[in-house]
Formats: sequence, C-alpha cells, structure tokens
Amino acid sequence: MAQAPRRSRKGAALRSPGLRSALSLPTLEAAVQTGSTPYQRPKLKITDVRTAQVRVHGTQVHVRIYTDQGIYGHGEATDAAVGAASLIRDWRSLLLGCDPLNVEPIWERIRTQGIFEGAQGGQYLAALSGVEIALWDLAGKALGLPVYQLLGGKFRDKIRLYCDMDAESPVGPEANRKLRWIKDQGFTAMKIDLDHARDPARWDKVNWTACNAEIDRIVKWVSHVRESIPESIALACDMHGRYDAPTGKKVAKVLEPLNLLWLEEPCPAENMDAMADIRHSTSTPIACGENLYMRWAFRELLQKGAADILQPDLQNVGGLAEAQTIAKMAHSSYLPLAPHCVVSPIGAMATCHACASFPNFLACEWHWINFPDDWRNWVKEGQIIEKGFITLPERPGIGVEMDEAAAKKARIPGTPWFEAGQ
Ligand code: MG
Repeated sequence: MAQAPRRSRKGAALRSPGLRSALSLPTLEAAVQTGSTPYQRPKLKITDVRTAQVRVHGTQVHVRIYTDQGIYGHGEATDAAVGAASLIRDWRSLLLGCDPLNVEPIWERIRTQGIFEGAQGGQYLAALSGVEIALWDLAGKALGLPVYQLLGGKFRDKIRLYCDMDAESPVGPEANRKLRWIKDQGFTAMKIDLDHARDPARWDKVNWTACNAEIDRIVKWVSHVRESIPESIALACDMHGRYDAPTGKKVAKVLEPLNLLWLEEPCPAENMDAMADIRHSTSTPIACGENLYMRWAFRELLQKGAADILQPDLQNVGGLAEAQTIAKMAHSSYLPLAPHCVVSPIGAMATCHACASFPNFLACEWHWINFPDDWRNWVKEGQIIEKGFITLPERPGIGVEMDEAAAKKARIPGTPWFEAGQ
C-alpha cells in the first residue's frame, strides 16, 4: 500500500486532542517564559568562618563557612596546616558578605592578595585548600548537587584506595598482622616506607647516602612484603624524599625486578632535575608531588619529565579545582594521578569527588590503618570504605557529616572548636 504523504500524516497528528492541548497558546507562552527566565540560583552570603584543629595522622584544620540561609560548608586542610587557623582568621573580612558560590574567584582573590605572605605554598596553600573545599561543599548543598557534579561529572562511581601500611618496619609479627588485615579488607594496592632513621647500618644521622647494607635491608623489606601479599595487590614504596640522588637511583634500579606500582620521592622533590635523572635511569615508575603546590610546580615537574605518577595532596595543593587542573595537565602527557591523602573521612570524601572527575585517576591514599575506630566513627555515615573502595554519595555537597562527639576526642587542647566569632 502506498504511504500517505508526509503533510497529511502531520495533519493527523495535530488533530490529536492531547497534542493540540500541549501546543496551545498558554502552554507555549509558559514554556517560552521558563526558557528565557534567568536561572534563579540561591542568593547566599557568607556570615561566619570557624575552625577546629585536630591531631590524628599529623595535624588537620577543619574549616566551616556559614551563610545567611542556615547552611554551611565543611573543608579540611592538612600537613602544612599548623598555622592555617590563624591565616583563615585573617581572611574573615575578605570572606564575610561574599557569595560562596563564586568558588574560584574567591580562591584567586585570597591567593593573589597573599603573594607577599607566602601564597606560593606551605601553610598559606593548606589553609586556602581547606577554605576552597568548604566552599565546594557549601555550593553543593546550596544547589542540591554532589560535588563531583559541580566539577564536571564523574568518570567512575567508586574510588580505588591504596592502604599505607604506616609501620616503622614491614617485618615482624605486628607487621605480618597488618599485612593480613590489608589483604582481608580487600585492598588492591598498598604502600610501605623504605626510609628507616634507626637502621643500624646508618653511619650518619644527617646524611642519607645509603651504604650497601642499608640497600640490602630495603630489598629484603620489599621482597618480604611482595611475598606476603597476593599478586593482585599492587605494591608501592616511599622513600619520603630523604635520601640523596645517587641512593635514589640505586634503589630504583635494584627494585626493578619487584615490579613496583611506583617508587615515591626517591630524592627530595625541590630539585626536579635530580628527580628526572633518577626517572630516566630506571624502569621503576617514579611518583612525586605531595610536597608541591599548585599548577606551576606540577608544570615544572611535567616539563622536566621528573615523574611517571603525580601525587598532589588535595588538602594542601590548593583544593579540588586546582587538583583537577593538575590532572588535566598530566593527562596531556598521558600520566596518571595518585593523590596523597592522610585526612579524615571528610577530606578523603572531598578528594574522592575530585578523583571521580579525573580521567587519569590511578588510586588514592588511605592512611588511617592505625586509627580504624577513629575513621569509622568520624562521620555520621560510619564506615565509608568497602573492599578497598569508596562509593561516591549522591547527597548534596561532599556527602558526609562530622560526628562531633567522636571527632572532638582528637581536638588539639586549647584550640577553638567551631566557636562563633573566632
Ligand atoms: Mg609520600
């Protein structure tokens, strides 16, 4: 049978009562009105900024930014965070009255006003990271969206963690208990420390040139751990940037047969030519970045070809958006990111939102193996790790809330605890 002409079929559709009502003049007017009305985003003003300081793995400063509409954002800073609380107090006058949804303009204002006050790194950037993360949490709560959505969406639902063993030595009964625990928890990657200040073979308390006996000890440690865990668990090693360049080069070479996930900071990170020299001398992947700040330091790292894996710490590198910028720069060289992370579930979950937005994410550190109860009790959501992964919550903001009664146990004596008017 011949098909009806197209015009006649359209005419038949328009004769349908449902469609006629959908295209009626008032309905069309309403649609045009909705489509052309500017988006009515919440009008918020920052009314207060408060901090709390805790000590768990190092020092952490928690930041809360309050608004005139009863919602607040919560961020966390670490490592270089010892003086962060007083810096954040100094920024109060700049923050009060601001629209907190302007996250990046606020970040840039605080950064550029501090160029003579150390805004190139250290405490300044740790404090700024805490503020930035609090602003993302606040923006998510105000807009009803999880933070990963504000960062452009997620490449994955679950974030892979690697467990830092956090032990002075990976050998002995207590270490073996930890290795079994890491395996039983389902982690797919772990890390041990290789620098050992009390190694009996060390002949000098200051100089970190390893003698052959110390290098033998390092190989023994790594071999022991490699044999104690299944092949399915990748192993990374950290030299903490303590050793000199010849030692870093030697260790990277002798560990090649052990197929590490990475060797971290085989020499100090300040001289990227030295780090690049080690990287180019070995097939062991070199990781670096926990002591670097902002995109400019990582630009140099990339330009010099000094690392295979980049490790910004989101609680001091400048925050979530800055880490995302670094991830994009690394992506242009086809390099992955494995963020350094030693903070509570609040900061860790914020880091996870950012990691979800990196196409080149590898694994995120988890460093609370010695404080499992503190970790589980820190947020009202309880245990957020399942078989070595954190699933991203769909709740607005970061998506976890501090259990203050539990977290307050780690408060640094004599410091404020989110009191008003600090
Ligand atoms: Mg490290």
